[in-house]
Amino acid sequence: MTDDPPRKIIHIDMDCFYAAIEVRDHPELRGKPIAVGGSSGRGVLTTANYEARKFGCRSAMPAFKALRQCPQLIIMPVRFDAYRAESQKIREVFARFTGLIEPLSLDEAYLDVSHWRSSGASVAEEIRAEICEATDLTASAGIATNKLLAKIASDWNKPDGQFEVTSDGVEGFMADLSVRKLWGVGAKTAERLSKAGIETCGDVQKHALTELHRRFGRFGIELYHLSRGQDDRPVQPSRERKSVSNERTYSEDITCFEESVPKLQSLWEELCEDLEKHKDRQIKSAFVKLKFNDFRHTTVERQTAVPAWELYEALLEEGWQRSDARHVRLLGAGVRFQSQEGLSEIEQLTFFEEN
Ligand SMILES: [Mg+2]
Repeated sequence: MTDDPPRKIIHIDMDCFYAAIEVRDHPELRGKPIAVGGSSGRGVLTTANYEARKFGCRSAMPAFKALRQCPQLIIMPVRFDAYRAESQKIREVFARFTGLIEPLSLDEAYLDVSHWRSSGASVAEEIRAEICEATDLTASAGIATNKLLAKIASDWNKPDGQFEVTSDGVEGFMADLSVRKLWGVGAKTAERLSKAGIETCGDVQKHALTELHRRFGRFGIELYHLSRGQDDRPVQPSRERKSVSNERTYSEDITCFEESVPKLQSLWEELCEDLEKHKDRQIKSAFVKLKFNDFRHTTVERQTAVPAWELYEALLEEGWQRSDARHVRLLGAGVRFQSQEGLSEIEQLTFFEEN
């Protein structure tokens, strides 16, 4: 989409990171089905190794269910201090290759290595070898000209492998790819697309840009480009967002709470869609903003990990109690995120690792 020379983007993803660390530190576990997580009645798995996945054990699965499917499964307690220490070593390796590092979680990052004369694939080989040397753990890599393709590609030769999508290969790579693999397409969006007969990126490509825009709004435009493997997002070193929110100014003032409820609900629905892109982040609080017709505004905020609609409705009501009979000209709905540094272990227990 730009005339600049193609970028060299690498997506590095550690292989079953938490479980791999446990197996490394407890060699007697090698070759056995291992998971990391809470093993008590209500515990859930944070991650599972490949041996456990053969039995259908997955991250976010309740421990009792995993044990029913795989009675010999060994569930190790979570040791975030150890995982963070390894993550730090991995980031030090990245820093030897580039300053443009965008971490997505403890075990995943985008790197921009466009300034290297060697090919992206050979830089990726070197990075993976150095990670292995520093940590005795394996990593997989995806190499492409943008983040979208690199991230999808890192899954292709997992574990301990890498895959490069070349410019000529993009079309073939995208055609049969499920839309679920696209950045920003969560379960809810995938369902809407499926109702429109769209399952793969190839299906999206059959629709004109104007039609996608009409049917899916601004996301339709994004979808048009993403389905063709086009993605201009730069690798952003200081990626950490503190919040996500949507707000709207209304052409006519809103006079009462009841009138504002459906308006806030549609803002909340958009918010939930946007949050699909931030699944790696833990929500700290929910907030509702009201701007009154004297241009003063108020924000009502409550701590929560789940942005449930009922909570937003309650916050809205509380905001109206501060209105002093003023009308409302703007509404906003948002969430604030936990900082990714220094999370407590309890907070991180809901932070699942995918691969
Ligand atoms: Mg991983």
